[in-house]
Amino acid sequence: MDYIEERTKIVEFGKKLIEERLSTGTGGNLSIYVPEDKVMLISPSGINYKETKLEDVVVMDLDGNVKEGIRKPSSEFAMHSIFYKNDPEVRSVVHCHSDFATAMACLNKDIPPLDYVIGDIGKTIKCTKYQIYGSPEIAEEAYETMGRDKGILPANHGSLAIGKSIEAAMGISKEIEFICKIFTYASAVGKPVILNDEQMDAVIEKFGTYGQPQKSTNHGA
Ligand SMILES: [Zn+2]
Repeated sequence: MDYIEERTKIVEFGKKLIEERLSTGTGGNLSIYVPEDKVMLISPSGINYKETKLEDVVVMDLDGNVKEGIRKPSSEFAMHSIFYKNDPEVRSVVHCHSDFATAMACLNKDIPPLDYVIGDIGKTIKCTKYQIYGSPEIAEEAYETMGRDKGILPANHGSLAIGKSIEAAMGISKEIEFICKIFTYASAVGKPVILNDEQMDAVIEKFGTYGQPQKSTNHGA
């Protein structure tokens, strides 16, 4: 079996999705890109993360052809491959069905910068226009909305994060969930004060990561 290291990470981080309450059951999906071979390793469709084994991970090319695997790949493979096709810095994509991100994605609105940590993701967390799951359209919409950011909310459908490693993409997923949670809490008791453009520019400058290859650690407070 090839790609043992990548398969191990897909299995390990799939379990983390459940343990860290970023998804439940078989919701969400994750992938790692191997640029030398132009293939991605992606979680299988419909298999519980706790039961996923190394051989269940699917190896695909970027046109959606299965190169190695006994399982059906995640139905959202196009929402992963579109980033690998177009952005040479992206090595991992993580899609979550976490509670607060999904709730906010149902508002079909961008999340404003109410906490400086958002600077790891972008100036806001943008929400896409709605497209049905598992379609080329949701992939296109996600890619266009992402721009130079590291995470977005696909409308009515959880969160999507990219990174130069699965650790970085998972870190962004956690930060999206954190920002969506505090936005919910703050909005429930008042009107959150939103950081202005100048304040966000200063945060991003201090982080030194916007539009740059990500460091493996995130700035989660
Ligand atoms: Zn999904």
